[in-house]
Amino acid sequence: MKKVDEPDYSRALVPKHNTLYKIIIAVLVLVIFILLLVYFGIIKPNFDLILNTSGDSSVSENVTANLEGLNFEGVTPNREIGKTLMKIDYEDNCSYTISYPQIGIEEIDDKIVTHANDLKKFFLENYKIDKNSEITFTEHIDYNSYLVDDDKMKLVFIDSIVKNDVEEISKNEYTYFFDLITGNELSADNLAITVNEGSKEFVPLYTEDIQEFDLAYSGDIVKYATTTLVVRKEKSTYAQLLGTLTPGEAIEVMAIEDDWEHVVYNGEEGYVKNGYLTRKKNLQKDVELEIVDRGIDPTKPMVAITFDDGPNPKSTPRILDTLEQYGVVATFFDLGQLVNSYPDVVQREEAIGCEVGNHSYSHKNFNVLTDEQMQEEIKNSEEAFIKVLGHKTTLFRLPYGNVNLKVKENVEYPLIKWNVDSLDWKSRDKNKILNKIRETKNYDGKIILLHSIYGTTADAVEVLVPELLNKGYQLVTVSELAYYKGNQIIKTAQEYTHF
Ligand SMILES: [Zn+2]
Repeated sequence: MKKVDEPDYSRALVPKHNTLYKIIIAVLVLVIFILLLVYFGIIKPNFDLILNTSGDSSVSENVTANLEGLNFEGVTPNREIGKTLMKIDYEDNCSYTISYPQIGIEEIDDKIVTHANDLKKFFLENYKIDKNSEITFTEHIDYNSYLVDDDKMKLVFIDSIVKNDVEEISKNEYTYFFDLITGNELSADNLAITVNEGSKEFVPLYTEDIQEFDLAYSGDIVKYATTTLVVRKEKSTYAQLLGTLTPGEAIEVMAIEDDWEHVVYNGEEGYVKNGYLTRKKNLQKDVELEIVDRGIDPTKPMVAITFDDGPNPKSTPRILDTLEQYGVVATFFDLGQLVNSYPDVVQREEAIGCEVGNHSYSHKNFNVLTDEQMQEEIKNSEEAFIKVLGHKTTLFRLPYGNVNLKVKENVEYPLIKWNVDSLDWKSRDKNKILNKIRETKNYDGKIILLHSIYGTTADAVEVLVPELLNKGYQLVTVSELAYYKGNQIIKTAQEYTHF
């Protein structure tokens, strides 16, 4: 045996064991020390981080709704989910516009429509009065929608009722929650549990104070006369005359008092009837019309058919089919939020040579909006047209045709009205629509008002178009009508009913 040749493990192992024990003891002391620090709150370990390193199991534990099949408009910040649909109805003294989202989950969409209809029903039951009454009520229901916790949604209807186009008599909000997984509407009880258990907070409730018109100025401001205007010494049409303002002439305004503006005229205090002084130096700006020559003969009669409130996925394509069939064009005053919902319909309007005009974003009554609210409507609608068509529109038609000086100061577009009213919204009857239009004998230079949201209107257009062509009229866009009737330049803040 060559004992000597064998390595002596016994000697080598003893010091190794000693080192290992020391290390183990040191580690244990360190662990106990750290645990003591944690116990006394001196160190706060990140358990989240520790959990996440153990794989994706924590993700799969959360039930997440499949959001891929749902509708997302992603245009307006307060509309996180849903594609906008609208119901617009005009009655003799009771009109309403309801915007609501379509999510893409049938159970929820049905419930949303039911809620929208309930609000409409409530409005009609309470405000529909004698149709011969002078008093009118307009209801405008807007919505905001939010994703909550990735598996729920919150819907807020903002319901505003306006009397006689000028006075907002009520403004209410209605909030609903839906479960995107089950399709159920969530009651306050369900939500209370979620709020307590969940770590995420709900999106704060939509709050918007009803803004008051700035009827009083804090200081003097310069305004400009929109027309020839008299200045009087007292607040009375019989008071002594101080002088006359010519259109565009500047004057200092100190305050608005009742129906009068308190002004300083040639160093003397006086009053001017309210509603004729503007804050904009150049209220009316030139808009140069650019027309593609498609062989319109300016010496022959021409008429512009206009369609409001679209695009509508059913009736607008039918109207376009008719126009295309006869190789003619019309003008569509579309709503920005529906332009976002049905971009292909709007693109087709322009593709076949029709003109697309702006009819606001959500069909609010501009007469009761603040400057900021009007700017919001304009900005949102312009963004929709730019996104879908690549450009803004040249023309604007105000919802309900409502215009006042404040509106003109904010909507920097030529304001297109009409002088042949089909009342298609009222009759919803093909022959009645046609007969109403036929009451006008000479259409040359005129603008016909129709709405692209009714099937009965699409029916009437099938007859109207060949009828007008047989009578020798060229069917043109509103811009073409203006241009060929000698208005190569039209003006903003100017209302046009015909050319
Ligand atoms: Zn309209």
